[in-house]
Amino acid sequence: MDRFIYSAGTSHIIFGRGEFSKISAVVEKVGSGRALILVTEQQKGIANLTAKKLGDNAAGIFSRAAMHTPVEVTEEALAYCESVKANCLVSVGGGSTTGLGKAIAYRTRMPHIVVPTTYAGSEVTPILGQTENKQKTTIKDQSVLPDAVIYDPELTDGLPLKMSIVSGLNAMAHAAEALYTKDRNPVSSMLAVEGFSATKIGLELIAKDQFSMEGRDSALYGAWLCGTVLGQVGMALHHKICHTLGGSFDMPHAETHAVMFPHTLAFNAKSANELLRPISDVFKGEIGSGLYDFAKEVSAPLTLKELGFRAEDLNLAAEIASRNPYWNPQPIDQAGLRSVLQNAFDGSRPE
Ligand code: NAD
Repeated sequence: MDRFIYSAGTSHIIFGRGEFSKISAVVEKVGSGRALILVTEQQKGIANLTAKKLGDNAAGIFSRAAMHTPVEVTEEALAYCESVKANCLVSVGGGSTTGLGKAIAYRTRMPHIVVPTTYAGSEVTPILGQTENKQKTTIKDQSVLPDAVIYDPELTDGLPLKMSIVSGLNAMAHAAEALYTKDRNPVSSMLAVEGFSATKIGLELIAKDQFSMEGRDSALYGAWLCGTVLGQVGMALHHKICHTLGGSFDMPHAETHAVMFPHTLAFNAKSANELLRPISDVFKGEIGSGLYDFAKEVSAPLTLKELGFRAEDLNLAAEIASRNPYWNPQPIDQAGLRSVLQNAFDGSRPE
């Protein structure tokens, strides 16, 4: 067996339908009273419900969390946090809201509780991605890892079908890259395989019936595992391209992951076919075309074009994505990157 180093995060995890009802007890235990509730503009309803549950322990609601964690929004939230004298954070929402909570926690060291409502997985990683001057940078620091996470599948049944599918594919991409990353270990690979298949099963059920609670259970359980591996090991080309498209071209996060996934995996399978076997077996050994067909079956978007990406930006995207490259199993050059991006732009089925 290869040598490895294993280190795990320490978030306290509560999982199950209806477990959101424990939010007040968790704030009492992990936080120290006055909680600032963070949400997006679209999720004000759940913020009000959270405030009601917290009663006197709710210090205020900040509802301007935004995709890719813009630093100016963090600064605005920090000022509000100080004005209401909050001393802990409760993020209720997807990766954008969690990102804002992490950005504040990183700067203030406040306790942070997350109630995820998508499958992004950010709540169990010590990674903070932030955007400033059109560049997305990431920090890896244990202080960013939230103290507690409440996974309640009932809070995800309002997630629109399209968003549920792309968010689940985002989680599956964390798991797939974890299988070939340089610092993988037997535990991360085991979590990745279980996370990938639980999320896939969840998406199949949700695609048939958006309100399937079994589907929601399985997808959220899978997303937790996929997020956990993302937090434990490094990522490669797929995540690098998606960070570039999100940070420099303001592309929507989960949708971009969904479109890029078959193409980056087909590219890396040239070097990592054996490592990908535990997940490619269900696709008859062909990970790129298998993921493409699966994405089609669950009605995920298939082209960067339909997400609004412009053909004239393909060269610039390849150039930015080739700067400070992440380690990758298949050697990368700008021409290779350009062709992966072109395939995703056109939505051609990987061979
Ligand atoms: P998101 O948080 O932006 O949510 C997408 C939209 O769905 C938002 O409008 C939100 O209000 C809405 N929404 C969320 N849950 C809902 C629900 N249950 N019902 C109805 N509407 C709901 O999207 P995301 O894909 O979860 O997160 C993307 C962000 O997370 C990006 O900024 C990305 O970089 C970050 N991220 C970070 C990590 C990490 O480890 N640091 C990991 C994954 C994603």
